Amino acid sequence: MAEPAALSPPPIDSRLPNVGVTIFTRMSQLAADCGALNLSQGFPDFDGPEALLERVRFHLGNRENQYAPMMGVAALRQAISRKVLDLYGLATDPDTEVTVTSGATEALYCAIAAVVRPGDEVILFEPAYDSYEPVVTLHGGRVRRVALTAPDYRVPWDTVGALINQRTRLIITNSPHNPTGTIWRAEDLAQLSALQRRSGCFVVADEVYEHILFNGEQHESVCRYPELYRSSFVVSSFGKTYHVTGWKIGYCVAPPALTAEFRKLHQYVTFTSNTPVQLGLADFLRAHPEHHLQLGQFYERKRDRLLAALAGSRFRFQPADGTYFQALDYSAITHEDDCTWTERLTREAGIALIPLSPFYGDPSTARMVRVCFAKDDATLDRAAELLCQL
Ligand code: PMP
Ligand code: GLN
Repeated sequence: MAEPAALSPPPIDSRLPNVGVTIFTRMSQLAADCGALNLSQGFPDFDGPEALLERVRFHLGNRENQYAPMMGVAALRQAISRKVLDLYGLATDPDTEVTVTSGATEALYCAIAAVVRPGDEVILFEPAYDSYEPVVTLHGGRVRRVALTAPDYRVPWDTVGALINQRTRLIITNSPHNPTGTIWRAEDLAQLSALQRRSGCFVVADEVYEHILFNGEQHESVCRYPELYRSSFVVSSFGKTYHVTGWKIGYCVAPPALTAEFRKLHQYVTFTSNTPVQLGLADFLRAHPEHHLQLGQFYERKRDRLLAALAGSRFRFQPADGTYFQALDYSAITHEDDCTWTERLTREAGIALIPLSPFYGDPSTARMVRVCFAKDDATLDRAAELLCQL
């Protein structure tokens, strides 16, 4: 008797019907296909510090290759807790308030999933980093966007206040800000604290660029505000700080009750992150605090080098206050939309940048692109040369 024909699987009714491949994947792929200079996706083209690589090699060779504890290796959690105390004056218990994650991306996922329920509203600021909204959507939440407007992208706090209602469950913040390079100052944190107190909502603070600020500015971490911290998940990433984005190690600092719920998700999303890298980071963090303390100056020099070289270009810009991104207004060059233009630029001019419209709910009409300056000086000089020809 003939075998019955195999049934084909049913079509998947997507939970994220409007989501495609991210703009970072698309532009990096296109840059590779075209052999273009890639200043699109945010990653350095130089390596992490040799002393850090050495510590990881040491632990790899020292048979530290089995599961780390679910919440992260103790030495790393203690080093994070010490750093948060030294920099922001907040005392945290590494056993109940610090969790190591597989990148900030995982920490953002678990923090948002821990608090958002169907029908909840989540406030975020656009342009917004791409990984927040899909997680809110997956958990039945509804995003309410507050537009930040070029060139200075200041927060219109009255607009935020007017959006707060009894369904407001969470505010997601990001300073220093990807993609605009702006930072929140003490008055922004004061406004955020006042709104949080009024609404009783949670805060997820994406602080992955916490060590990359310029002009002597200090990072206004949510950890500096003990009352605000009581309702907050503070997320960071070692990828940015140590030039090792491919290692995907981040962390979340949150009060014990929030951390307990966060870990319920973390233990089933990844359970834990790789052991030798965590141990290497712990050693390096203790032995070389100067690395993160000098990171702002390191990137400020790169920003200045790029911007000095772009002075003769047709781009308009407000120098970034933080991150390793610079937003550029290209409206004096063309009226083409940013996605079409950046694609053409990659193919024809041999340089890949990131258009800003994918950071908006509705494609923005602003003629803006983002350039990543976490690059060797020679790469920056070559990029500036290409950009000055436009
Ligand atoms: N948040 C922001 C604002 C980012 O720019 C990035 C990465 N570039 C992340 C989160 C994700 O960090 P990770 O690579 O550690 O997951
Ligand atoms: N966060 C990086 C950026 O902004 C990209 C990370 C990713 O590719 N998901 O470029």
